Amino acid sequence: MSAPAPARCDLAVVGAGIVGLAVARELARRYPRASLCVLEREQQPATHQTGHSSGVIHAGIYYRPGSLKARLCVDGARELYVYCAERAIEHERCGKLILATDEPQLARLRELHGRGQANSVGELRWLEGAQIEHVEPHARALAALHSPSTGVVDFQDVARAYASDVAEAGGVVACGCGVTAVDVRARSLRLSHARGQTEATHAIFCAGAWSDRLAVAAGADPDPRIVPFRGAYLRLVPERRHLVRSLIYPTPDPSLPFLGVHLTRHLDGDVLVGPTALIVGARDAYDLRRVRRHDLRDTLAWPGTWRMLRRFWPAGVSELRRSTSRAALVAAAARLVPALSVDDVEPRGGFAGVRAQALARDGRLLDDFSFSAGERALHVRNAPSPAATASLAIARHVCERAERAFGLTA
Ligand SMILES: Cc1cc2nc3c(=O)[nH]c(=O)nc-3n(C[C@H](O)[C@H](O)[C@H](O)COP(=O)(O)OP(=O)(O)OC[C@H]3O[C@@H](n4cnc5c(N)ncnc54)[C@H](O)[C@@H]3O)c2cc1C
Repeated sequence: MSAPAPARCDLAVVGAGIVGLAVARELARRYPRASLCVLEREQQPATHQTGHSSGVIHAGIYYRPGSLKARLCVDGARELYVYCAERAIEHERCGKLILATDEPQLARLRELHGRGQANSVGELRWLEGAQIEHVEPHARALAALHSPSTGVVDFQDVARAYASDVAEAGGVVACGCGVTAVDVRARSLRLSHARGQTEATHAIFCAGAWSDRLAVAAGADPDPRIVPFRGAYLRLVPERRHLVRSLIYPTPDPSLPFLGVHLTRHLDGDVLVGPTALIVGARDAYDLRRVRRHDLRDTLAWPGTWRMLRRFWPAGVSELRRSTSRAALVAAAARLVPALSVDDVEPRGGFAGVRAQALARDGRLLDDFSFSAGERALHVRNAPSPAATASLAIARHVCERAERAFGLTA
């Protein structure tokens, strides 16, 4: 997998997460004569967000109609199912329930139903009473939205398949090549990395939690900044997995870009409870205690952080409680499945991911996917959930923007 990085190439992609690899795959398909390389900092692709997600193929219900998320998620999910079938990647269209457990949520769930329909999400069903128990016998709610087309997959498997498509098309995926400097020259970009230098005519930066730093290094606007939000999960003990048949979600708080604590049954039968959403002191804080001075300084020095905290501090306090107390995290899940108790989760063996969430200077958490163009460069500035689901559609969108910005021709 890890080829040496070339000294020169026509097109470079920085970051081999699912988005970077999907973009590289799409570039290889569109420009078969161009030389292409992907530069990845870690020793393997897909080790950050892509390898630490809920693994859910979202149907596209939540997102504001007309937004990029709405369009690219619906298209991307459809394409991803086709791709997984073609490439024999294990996946399951298991369906999902979004529950309203009190009156205010009921009104919001009706709005979500409308959004899903406006976004052309097929097969949405409004359920009440025994209809809910028929789908999820242990869930309790005033009403639920059932999305049979939501599914699960291991996004690392998908990313690995994209990487092999890139290699088959003649592209190079070079690992251990963390880009440390970007020098904009008259006819190229010089990318300095851990294994030397690569001179690229054009580059697309898909660096997840580090995307703002590379954008600034390439001369782009420092706004928005990435703030890391850690998402921790617990696992149900095997004897209690029967409480969850597929995916059970709450009605989310519309002011936050996160979906709330949910229950997800994975392909291997594991049932996860989570995630939390806590601002942390490192962009790779898989361990809650990990703090990196540079990351913490960047978060604290950003005016948007303080503006956001002033607005969302009550949500922050709840997240802190759920992040430090297993009982509090399980209590959030027990609003969906009341039979759950803290004894039902493994004492150890949970896991965590870190979301790369873009935060504007004015304190707004960017809700939609966001991209910016620079000199010979295109930057993916915000690609949180459902970017893994939407990866194939994002790749097409990015390549169309690159075509316009760079004047690329096949
Ligand atoms: C807890 C959690 C749950 C989620 N659940 C879902 C879900 O159920 N469904 C869904 O669709 N999405 C989900 N997401 C979101 C999804 O995982 C991300 O949107 C997606 O993985 C983003 O992919 P990416 O390629 O942009 O980022 P990443 O996977 O983070 O990849 C970025 C890559 O860039 C590399 N890189 C960084 N800096 C450099 C550098 N200087 N030089 C070279 N390489 C560099 C990194 O090493 C990394 O490999 C979830 C995310 C989290 C954290």
